[in-house]
Amino acid sequence: MIRSVSYSKLIDFEQCKYRVKLKHIDKIPEEKSEAADRGTKIHLAAENYVRGKIKQLPQELRKFATEFEALRARYKAKQASLEGEWGFNHAWEPCDYKHAWLRVKADAVIHLDTTSAVVVDFKTGKSFGNEIKHGEQVQLYAIATLLRHPELADITVELWYLDVDQLVTRTMTRAQALRHLQPFEKRLVQVTKATEFPANPNIFSCKWCAYGPNKGGQCTFGVTSTGSVNLSNYRKRFG
Ligand code: SF4
Repeated sequence: MIRSVSYSKLIDFEQCKYRVKLKHIDKIPEEKSEAADRGTKIHLAAENYVRGKIKQLPQELRKFATEFEALRARYKAKQASLEGEWGFNHAWEPCDYKHAWLRVKADAVIHLDTTSAVVVDFKTGKSFGNEIKHGEQVQLYAIATLLRHPELADITVELWYLDVDQLVTRTMTRAQALRHLQPFEKRLVQVTKATEFPANPNIFSCKWCAYGPNKGGQCTFGVTSTGSVNLSNYRKRFG
């Protein structure tokens, strides 16, 4: 059984439950990808710059120089926080991150005044092709921030696409954001209630899967980028 859920775990689960089993139940470590390593390094560089640990803005963040300068100033003035790890229990009440049912991580939160705040997510890579996924992330960030801060009347969520100089922003009132809570809950509980984790091999999910044949991983159900499968395993899947 899976005890806690996050947005990325939900997406993995909806694409292929077997992948979630390999990662979170069997705890088989994923091969680190170059893109993931790069993303981690850039997030760390951004954090260090905003905290004032490094003086010069790293090259990879320069397209957002104005925004980072403003964020650094807000952080210095104690009007912004970084790298939030937020936990919620099954009743969506804020709780300890480690023992939480739902976990949300936010890169930065800026408190504009007593009733308004901005949540920022630093993105590496493109927005193109990720619009639905990132749109849902925006909704979940909004819900999480508003539940943690009952004093807020509205919330703005900004996605900073650091590589491509693109900023996506959405502002929601409390009522608009919390409308998404029930639909999310229906999906999220599927993850923590699941007792079966069948594979869902297809060229789209398997293409980037760390356990798939394209990456030389452990999954024997996976489909290669040309669409071919290991037939004896594939047939077993249907009994
Ligand atoms: S390779 Fe495909 S079938 Fe196997 S775990 Fe990954 S997504 Fe699922």
